Amino acid sequence: MIVHQAEAVVLRTWPVHEADLIVSLFTRDHGKLKGIAKSASKSRRRFGGALEPMTHVLANYAIKPRQELVRLDSFEIVTSPLSGTIDYTRAAALAFYAEILEEILPDHDPHDAVFRLLLAVLEQTKMGSIWMPLTYFSLWITRLMGWMPDVLRCTHCGTAFAGRPAYWQPHTDGLFCIDHRRLAGSTLSPDSQGLAVRIFRQPIAAFANEDWPRNRAVDLRRFAIQGLEHHLERRLTTAVALAKLGG
Ligand SMILES: [Zn+2]
Repeated sequence: MIVHQAEAVVLRTWPVHEADLIVSLFTRDHGKLKGIAKSASKSRRRFGGALEPMTHVLANYAIKPRQELVRLDSFEIVTSPLSGTIDYTRAAALAFYAEILEEILPDHDPHDAVFRLLLAVLEQTKMGSIWMPLTYFSLWITRLMGWMPDVLRCTHCGTAFAGRPAYWQPHTDGLFCIDHRRLAGSTLSPDSQGLAVRIFRQPIAAFANEDWPRNRAVDLRRFAIQGLEHHLERRLTTAVALAKLGG
């Protein structure tokens, strides 16, 4: 049995037995893990307040050979989402990150770029300003999974969009010019194409002072989210909740 301490972000918890919890954890060193926190709901000393999804923790855990679940010994909070004000929209954004990472990340496969993306996005997800970090996260996670097409050229013929709308449709990879679009597709505006280019070139902090109401770049978020759903082969529950908020 090898004992580790690693930075991690809590994704989900499920109650088991009397007071135990199963915790899904995205660790920096070992990728996504599931572990058992014995007596977690009784032991405030070992886990107090640190089991809320999207809490950034230092996790102490033991990996046992031939066992699927690691043993979680204790967590220390680095940053808690509960340290800022939570309203329904911020909670919906945090749940969105958690659902995507839970679905996308393979077990035991570290992904430092995704880990850094998540920490940067969490820092920006404040009450009253969720749409910028949501958009940034949706685009980058799609790209880091290798599912983001070139946003400046038609996937079919390579022609640059050059100030014209691009077209996409559900259940199909890519962005298309007017000649190669299909009926019943959606558009990605030239503004959103330009914004996507900036998002892939600049750190999230570069956007922190921009005005970002919920209707800004809606087409870009929808494009990224449908790409994620297409590859995951299911609707994201939290994306439905966000769509109801207008996002
Ligand atoms: Zn084309």
